Amino acid sequence: MALSQIGLVGLAVMGQNLSLNIAEKGFPISVFNRSYEKTEAAVARAQKEGLSDKLRGYKDVKDFVESLEKPRRVILLVQAGAPVDATVDNLCKYMEPGDIIIDGGNEWYENTERRKAKVEALGLRYMGMGVSGGEEGARRGPSMMPGGTAEAYKYIEPIVTKVAAQVDDGPCVMYIGDGGAGNYVKMVHNGIEYGDMQLISEAYDVLHVLGGLSNDEIAAVFAEWNQGELQSFLIEISAIIAAKKDEDGSSLVDKIVDKTGAKGTGKWTVQQAAELSVAAPTITASLDGRYMSALKDQRVSASKVFGDLGLKAPAAAAGVDKKQLIADVRAALYCSKICSYAQGMNIIKAKSEEKEWGVDLGGLARIWKGGCIIRAGFLDRIKQAYQRDSNLPSLLVDPPFAKDLAERDAAWRRVVALAVTNGVPAPGMMASLSYFDTYRRERLPANLVQAQRDFFGSHTYQRTDKEGWFHTVWDENF
Ligand code: NAP
Repeated sequence: MALSQIGLVGLAVMGQNLSLNIAEKGFPISVFNRSYEKTEAAVARAQKEGLSDKLRGYKDVKDFVESLEKPRRVILLVQAGAPVDATVDNLCKYMEPGDIIIDGGNEWYENTERRKAKVEALGLRYMGMGVSGGEEGARRGPSMMPGGTAEAYKYIEPIVTKVAAQVDDGPCVMYIGDGGAGNYVKMVHNGIEYGDMQLISEAYDVLHVLGGLSNDEIAAVFAEWNQGELQSFLIEISAIIAAKKDEDGSSLVDKIVDKTGAKGTGKWTVQQAAELSVAAPTITASLDGRYMSALKDQRVSASKVFGDLGLKAPAAAAGVDKKQLIADVRAALYCSKICSYAQGMNIIKAKSEEKEWGVDLGGLARIWKGGCIIRAGFLDRIKQAYQRDSNLPSLLVDPPFAKDLAERDAAWRRVVALAVTNGVPAPGMMASLSYFDTYRRERLPANLVQAQRDFFGSHTYQRTDKEGWFHTVWDENF
């Protein structure tokens, strides 16, 4: 029997769909899963979809490895963490020098670096490849972010470039950088995704609660926004969600418990921002939003405590001009989104410099244009911003983005002010606005903080009028 060009281990949602996508693009593929039922399910699906000549399932890992063309290429889509270690150890028993393992999971980048070193000692090559787009993306064409051994990439390039989503300027895949760079940028992609979702939910909240818009009206507003500068997968699905009716004809979204889950990549992004001393307040606000959402019982009690003290739940604001509010919220969402992406890109930039990965930020924005959850027309503008200046210190000062921010500044403030005045939390939009105001401020009150540090800790300070470091005895009694 002819050998398969590629193998895939891990046939849950992602693996099954990606393997069918690979088979459909014409690459014979062998598949394996720890428990055989999922392999059988994948084979049955391939049969149903007319792909059985391209996809073969194996019960035994040795047979699976031996069914592959050399150098063997095996994509892993198993649960991140210990399951990946177990799978790599299992494969290493049969794989040979030159063979390549590509972990496609949402793995912590240092785990990828550790495994890379371990398998390289055996002569194998290792890549960590972020895959975004959920099951639909995996099946139809995801955005893929492969990193790791550079010279291994050429062996998977012909396959991944066909399997990835295709946009106007090419396939949504490129080599990201050495080590765990591929997993790292996928992690930040997810952090940005948290930010986008939070900001859209705030826009929905302000329109719904303060503007008094019905879910159907919001669906129409989002659908219209999706034709302009906010065009994105997340706005598109939010329009569909807002319009969705339950069996009794009422809005389904209103019946969903207001608690958001999380799997960890958003938290890692925020931890990394702190590690790198990069401010990421919008992404942090979106993570905090999820944590606060989980405190449902406490929130219900607190609303009663403060309700009894006269602070009622927010309600439609008096005298709101709906048309104006919709236009203002659109502007506020767009400006906040620019801030969020600026933060995400700056995290990647800082890490890439630290690790010497050489991540091409414009290229990264390009491969996020299709296939992934944050896909949006907006990413083409980010690509162009980094093409104009690959060393751009922040997206905020890219001339077209700066102009957009300045033009929408007043509307953005009106939305934040309205939310604050009426007690509607809009932490993502507020954090973004403060981030913007801080970044564009020539002189901050950091002078006072530094003076306090010098006061109680002799940390010294610099002066505006002379060179050097100074210490003052601020008060002899302390
Ligand atoms: P998952 O639920 O994360 O993992 C299930 C797979 O891992 C199954 O194939 C399972 O095998 C295998 N597994 C678990 N423990 C194992 C062990 N100790 N040894 C060997 N195999 C083990 O699957 P998923 O949702 O398809 O995601 C796969 C990867 O892609 C994850 O890293 C995930 O974070 C990432 N990802 C997921 C999505 C998504 O939308 N789901 C999107 C992007 C990226 P058994 O069947 O034998 O239990």
